[in-house]
This record gives sequence, structure tokens and C-alpha cells, in this order.
Amino acid sequence: MSRRKLIVGNWKMNGLLAQIGEIEAIDRLAQEKPKVEVGLCVPATLIHAASGVARSAFIGGQDCHMKDSGAHTGCLSAAMLKEAGAKTVIAGHSERRTDQHETSADVAAKAVAAHQAGLNVILCVGETEAERDAGNAEAVVSEQLLDSLPQNAAAAWLSIAYEPIWAIGTGRTPTMEEVDRMHRALREALRSRIGADADNMRILYGGSMNGANAGDLLAIADVDGGLVGGASLTAEKFAPIIEAASAAG
Ligand code: PEP
Repeated sequence: MSRRKLIVGNWKMNGLLAQIGEIEAIDRLAQEKPKVEVGLCVPATLIHAASGVARSAFIGGQDCHMKDSGAHTGCLSAAMLKEAGAKTVIAGHSERRTDQHETSADVAAKAVAAHQAGLNVILCVGETEAERDAGNAEAVVSEQLLDSLPQNAAAAWLSIAYEPIWAIGTGRTPTMEEVDRMHRALREALRSRIGADADNMRILYGGSMNGANAGDLLAIADVDGGLVGGASLTAEKFAPIIEAASAAG
């Protein structure tokens, strides 16, 4: 089963127009490595400008509301992101599940709204450190995945990002065996829901991926790419990850 590697930067609440040159530089990296699909999920305020300069990388948002419109001060609909130039949106990042108390049902509804608006979706799941220490990480994350996955999920528009919460922004990662076991468990969970299309669906790893560990992580059979926070903020740090994905692809 060949799944094109997908490397997506998540800029979180980082980036002003002054960083547009960095986006152009990352876009050039994407152009140089056509085997890899490269994307950048920037703050909503940058989507329009970023999509104006990105030729090879796609631009995405980091969240959308599940409703099309209405009295939701400060929120953005999927159609608004699309109009601004986004092709993709992240749903259910653990920072939103924690900070904004988003439930798995909310995440599934957001994914449906995004798809209806014509966006692709990167759906995030992951365990806490206590859940991993308790020895049931695969079961917990598989259940979270099935609770967050919309009924009409399909590999053509939705990818999964497995992001252990304790590995995000900490410089710590699970062992390669743990990542391998989790990604295989998630593929099985997907198979139970969407059948054979599970083999087409990309499952990204996220959590302190960097130039030093990307090669090993991306060599794991069921790791189809990466969702990258800190190491995506500059082209210099992002380049070795895109290169590793190209070599692994
Ligand atoms: C993320 O925000 O999705 C992430 C994986 O962050 P970092 O790479 O900084 O751990």
C-alpha cells in the first residue's frame, strides 16, 4: 500500500505578516521535494497572505466551528477558512481539546462541517502521560479515534494525526516500538469503521518531531507523515523533516 507522505506544520499562535518570507522558503522546500505533500496550518490571520505566496505547499487552518454561521463571537466557519485560501483544517488538536474543552463529538462535527465546505481534515488524537503509564494507550486512543471520526470519513479528505499529549512541545517522544504499535492499532480501528479505505488513510505522527528523529519515525510502516509544531516555524528546521519524508517515501 503506497501512501504519499504528508508533512504538515502547525504554527499554533505564532506568525505575523513579517514571517511571510519563511512561508515562501517552506514553499520552495515543498517544490524541491515533490514526492512529499507539504502543508502549513497557520494562524487564521495569515491564511490569505500565505495562500497568496504558496505554490507547492498547501495552506490550512487550525480549527473551525461546526456551524456554518451564527452568533459565535470570535469563531470562524469552515467556509470562511476556505474563502481565505485554506485547503485543510486541523480538528481536535489536544491543545483545543484541553483549552477549549472540545469533546470528540465536537471534533467529529467540525470534521463534517469542514468536509461540507470543501476542506480536507487532519483529525488529532492522543493519550495523556497517565494513560500511557497505565498501560492502555492503544485502547484509549483507538476509542478516542472512533468517537472523533465522522460517519462519512474517507481517506480522500481526512487524515489522522496521532499526537501523544506528553510529547507535544516537550522534546520527548515515544519509542519507535510504541509508535509502531499505536499506528498499527489505529489502522485496525480505522479498518473496523471504514473497511478497506483504512489502508489509504494517512496516519501522521506528531509530538516533538524534528530533523534528528524524523528519519526513524517516518521509516515505520504505518507512519505516513508528521504533524510538526516547533520544528515547522522556520524553513531551516523544517527542511530536514521534509527531506526525511522524501527519502522514506
Ligand atoms: C503539534 O502542535 O501538533 C506538535 C506536534 O507540536 P511539537 O512538534 O512542537 O511537539
